[in-house]
Amino acid sequence: MNSNELFERSEKIAPGGVHSPVRAFKGVGRTPLFFKEGKGPYIYSVEGGEYVDYCQSFGPLILGHRDPDVSAAIEEIMKKAWTFGTCEPYSLDLAEFIVDALPHIDKVRFVNSGTEAVMSALRVARGATGRNKIIKFEGCYHGHVDSLLVKAGSGLAGLAASDSAGVSDSVASETIVLPLNDRKAVEEAFNKHGKDIAAIISEPMPANFGLMKPDMDFLKFLRKITLENGSLLIFDEVISGFRVAMGGMAELSGADPDLVTYGKVMGGGFPVGCYGGKNKYMEMVAPQGPVYQAGTLSGNPIGMVAGLATLIKVQKEQVISRLAERTETFVNGLREQFQAYEMPFKVAQQASLFWIHGCENENPQTIDEIPPEQAENYTRFYAHCLEEQIYLAPSDCEGSFMSWALSEKIM
Ligand code: PLP
Repeated sequence: MNSNELFERSEKIAPGGVHSPVRAFKGVGRTPLFFKEGKGPYIYSVEGGEYVDYCQSFGPLILGHRDPDVSAAIEEIMKKAWTFGTCEPYSLDLAEFIVDALPHIDKVRFVNSGTEAVMSALRVARGATGRNKIIKFEGCYHGHVDSLLVKAGSGLAGLAASDSAGVSDSVASETIVLPLNDRKAVEEAFNKHGKDIAAIISEPMPANFGLMKPDMDFLKFLRKITLENGSLLIFDEVISGFRVAMGGMAELSGADPDLVTYGKVMGGGFPVGCYGGKNKYMEMVAPQGPVYQAGTLSGNPIGMVAGLATLIKVQKEQVISRLAERTETFVNGLREQFQAYEMPFKVAQQASLFWIHGCENENPQTIDEIPPEQAENYTRFYAHCLEEQIYLAPSDCEGSFMSWALSEKIM
């Protein structure tokens, strides 16, 4: 069966034919391709097409598909441990690696996705402060946590309306949505709601509505104002963690967040996330403290071993910095081609992430800079890329990822 036939089949039994919305290719105005295999830098469609994969499952596969070292570790663990629902040494090994590598993490708790990590970190912040409100920033995505599926209503802080049906007004009203990098808006929110604000959650390198240049001073300002007001600072590093630096944006910004959430790279391609941070807050988590959070498959051996093998290799081979250099070479080449062919694109880059866009600045800082024709132009460009068997993220606002498996020859 080809992709179209499989999609028709799938539409009958899954909402929109998919198990996560972007996969439906609506953002690029076509029906999706189905892929059956991945190896190194390539994915193979059911039709037999070999595509260079710059999407990398939206970020987890920093080493590429089925990296041989990660694969060997998985094959070993598959022979003896799938899941026990008990204490086991595999999650301990990964937890120790993370705590040793990241100075801002004293303790860590494994979960099964980035969404779960964020949801749990918010619960800890509310438990620790006894407050309910959370500040988030426009355009930042933190998974499908009810209270964070909101953006600013009528441009007024405090009047958030949900982006999704099924989120109650009372839940949505706990979220204050503010423009990114706007200090005044944050100060005003604290002046008005300070005693109710449990935490600020930020995607410190915003990468879900285009790829925005991080503002380090703003991140430090968030640290200062949260400390002054007795609120927590949460960095959502599900994308940036272990990709822009081993310690993610917490390391690069020096902003010292209280809690950080991770996913993607740290699971080596398996459903793994975690949240961690300062002892004071992590000790609030059950069974040590009163904030309940649990998971049948949390810390499952296969994900733990895959994650550890990935992170060890990333560290040992200095993948993060070397991949960032490769990405720069690649992105510069792209920029030259866009200029040579007078195409309406620029390329933003942060470490091994890149985003093809039509903003005036090469590395924009706010979503207001995205021009209205972005979706249309990207859709046209995307069709050409697919013809050339290049697989980018199937949405004009999603960044694409370089993987270690993409040697200079291929890219
Ligand atoms: N936070 C950020 C910054 C993300 O980019 C994502 C997913 O893309 C999530 C949270 C949610 O992670 P997951 O899809 O694993 O639930």
